[in-house]
Amino acid sequence: MTHHTCDIAIIGGALAGAATAWHLARLGYDGDIAVFERDPGFAQAATALSASGIRQQFSLAENIALSRRTLEFLNKASDHFEFETDVGFHENGYLLLASEAGRETLAANHAVQKQCGADVVLLDPVGLQERFSWLNTDGVAAGSLGLAGEGWFDAMALLSAFRRALKANCRVSLVTGEVAEIENTAGRVTGIRLANDSRWACDTAVIAAGPSSGALARASGLDLPVEPRKRTVFFFHARERYAEMPLTVDPSGLYVRPEGDGYITGMSPHPDEDGPADPQDFEPDWPLFEDSIWPLLATRIPAFEALKLQSAWAGHYEYNPFDRNALIGPVAESGGLYVISGFSGHGVQQAPSAAEALAERILFGQFRTTDCTAFSPDRIAAGRRFAERNII
Ligand SMILES: Cc1cc2nc3c(=O)[nH]c(=O)nc-3n(C[C@H](O)[C@H](O)[C@H](O)COP(=O)(O)OP(=O)(O)OC[C@H]3O[C@@H](n4cnc5c(N)ncnc54)[C@H](O)[C@@H]3O)c2cc1C
Repeated sequence: MTHHTCDIAIIGGALAGAATAWHLARLGYDGDIAVFERDPGFAQAATALSASGIRQQFSLAENIALSRRTLEFLNKASDHFEFETDVGFHENGYLLLASEAGRETLAANHAVQKQCGADVVLLDPVGLQERFSWLNTDGVAAGSLGLAGEGWFDAMALLSAFRRALKANCRVSLVTGEVAEIENTAGRVTGIRLANDSRWACDTAVIAAGPSSGALARASGLDLPVEPRKRTVFFFHARERYAEMPLTVDPSGLYVRPEGDGYITGMSPHPDEDGPADPQDFEPDWPLFEDSIWPLLATRIPAFEALKLQSAWAGHYEYNPFDRNALIGPVAESGGLYVISGFSGHGVQQAPSAAEALAERILFGQFRTTDCTAFSPDRIAAGRRFAERNII
């Protein structure tokens, strides 16, 4: 068995893990950091398979704060790196539509968003029709539109920038390998063991393993409610080009937005049909398009009656079935162990700011830029749900 040492081991080298390492270094940490990644091409990472949206339209002020902090970062991306960085931010906005049944919730969320400084407006069907001639407002009672600070970006460009900066840092090792177990002795992290049986001694470890975070915790004798949930994204062409279209969310939960010379669309399954995915299953859910998505699309945007499905891919949400919100902070059962996972579909927009807050928590014992206390994994054992209502 080969033995190595590091001070902080980060398991998972995609957005959450790479950003945590980068922020630790930026904040002046002078120990040795090792970032472990089993799939350095990121073929199956949620970061690579994401729709990459960023919005402020959440129901919880804490989620809005995380996304706003990432927004600040994206708006000045090039200032953070010693090389030119284009994160491809398309500030098209988000348009969330509600039926009569959802109108009150939309208005309540709107009030929270306004208090947090989000640039959002509520529109009635007439206002919606005036702004978006392509939209059929049948069955829509209201819409909430983000005017600024919402849209989508190139998550892989951001990840590449973090990893390029990490590669240039002699205190950071980017290690290719699968972590099999985080070793705990007497309630403290003592090291990590890789699947090839090599061992790294360390006293601090961070679980940033995306949809595999729960499985890794289990293999280490811990319980963390994070599981893979399969989500399919469909790419299609249509004759009409609505380049300014915001990411539009139908009351059914279906979303659609422009992408390149076409559009992407998808929707989460009904909660009764949703469950943990086989971690190896990346086969798109093809029938979902024909059975549910296309009819809904054609109703909401009549021009999409005629469309051509081009391709599809499936990825896994790192889903927290306890309350569908992130887990950020120390794991009480194991001294020196931290987690940044469970984002449940909003992690590309939150991982960068959550990573910053977690790095502060590790180095200074407290969150500084964004207070992530509410995301503490302690809430699981305490049975205290911190539930986000706006999950797409
Ligand atoms: C279809 C889809 C659409 C999405 N849309 C959005 C969106 O619009 N907006 C948004 O904010 N978020 C969205 N998300 C969620 C977002 O992509 C994730 O929350 C985010 O990318 C999580 O980043 P991560 O680094 O935590 O996880 P990942 O990107 O999954 O990275 C985890 C990494 O850990 C590695 N790893 C796992 N286990 C081990 C191990 N034992 N040893 C070594 N390495 C390991 C994996 O190989 C992987 O590279 C979407 C996700 C999907 C699947």
